[in-house]
Amino acid sequence: MTRLDLGIPRYRAPKSSLPETDGRPDVPGLIDRFGRVARDLRVSVTEKCSLRCTYCMPEGGLPAIPRDELLTAAEIARLVGIGARDLGIREVRFTGGEPLMRADLAEIIGRSADAAPGIDISLTTNGVGLEHRVHELVAAGLARINVSLDTVDRTHFAALTRRDRLPAVLAGIRAAHLAGLTPLKINAVLMRETLAGAADLLAWSIETGSRLRFIEQMPLDADQAWVRVQMVDARELLDTLSARFVLTEIGRDDPSAPAEEWLVDGGPATLGIIASVTRSFCAECDRTRITAEGTVRSCLFGDDETDLRGLLRSGADDAELARFWRAAMWGKQAGHGIDSAGFVRPERSMGAIGG
Ligand code: SAM
Ligand code: SF4
Repeated sequence: MTRLDLGIPRYRAPKSSLPETDGRPDVPGLIDRFGRVARDLRVSVTEKCSLRCTYCMPEGGLPAIPRDELLTAAEIARLVGIGARDLGIREVRFTGGEPLMRADLAEIIGRSADAAPGIDISLTTNGVGLEHRVHELVAAGLARINVSLDTVDRTHFAALTRRDRLPAVLAGIRAAHLAGLTPLKINAVLMRETLAGAADLLAWSIETGSRLRFIEQMPLDADQAWVRVQMVDARELLDTLSARFVLTEIGRDDPSAPAEEWLVDGGPATLGIIASVTRSFCAECDRTRITAEGTVRSCLFGDDETDLRGLLRSGADDAELARFWRAAMWGKQAGHGIDSAGFVRPERSMGAIGG
């Protein structure tokens, strides 16, 4: 099996020379050719995961990244500090793989909070093991959390994630609520297998005081099984949910927010729908990503990556790191183009990029 089969190919080496910056005005922020400014940083901290969601990971997991190729807590915090101080980053979200697989996650958060005082720090997690870690994470500076949960049916959960861990996820969510990580958001990827249980998931979310957001599945599964015609889209979800709830459209919280909000049964409960494929928000995208190996990725769907780890380890100063990061973002593509003819999937899968 090649690395491409596992969703984490290596034949496109990250750029280690300065990417093209022709026409870029000399401004500090992370601007691109299409007038967007990146202020929201996603940092993947590992490729490892405790689950194997079919829309993300291969059954056997991703090939392990050698330990010395992963950014350390100190390196991550240094980049977060540069992002906040020199590049206009306002929020950072740690993701993966499963960030709780890193034993030093609290250290990553704590060091990042010290390096970028006042920055908004959040986490996207599958919730497995969260129950035992949430207090140290909050004490380190974690302010918000998104837990991924596609169904509250244990059999469906086990089939979708290839692991029977629903009780652990629910315990993690309870612990996060008790630790004050509210409003707690639940991310659910729309799958044909779980569509029938979508209304139960919404009812459960309302009952537990969680904010549910459904996400259209993107072609980022390592198994490459995604097929456009089989994808469940926002329209189909709304039709399904409308059999049980009255949904009233409210719109987006702000123009760069990916979720469109709906009031459920007149409120106050709401539902978010992230129609990443059918109503792409690429034109408003304000994200920049750092992979677990320390490359800048300007778009989920853009395989051109720029290596910062090599610079970090060869003694580059903050100004040089910021210069490479800015250049990497200047080359960000206009959009993912999933719905256009000639769309080519990215080489890396979601778990290998950091969702
Ligand atoms: N393991 C953590 C988790 O599941 O929350 C963090 C990493 S995961 C890659 C981040 C988010 O990406 C999750 O909410 C997951 O549901 C979502 N995701 C994974 N594969 C996806 C796909 N093919 N399309 C849309 N969202 C996806
Ligand atoms: Fe793991 Fe998250 Fe991917 Fe599921 S979505 S396999 S929990 S990284």
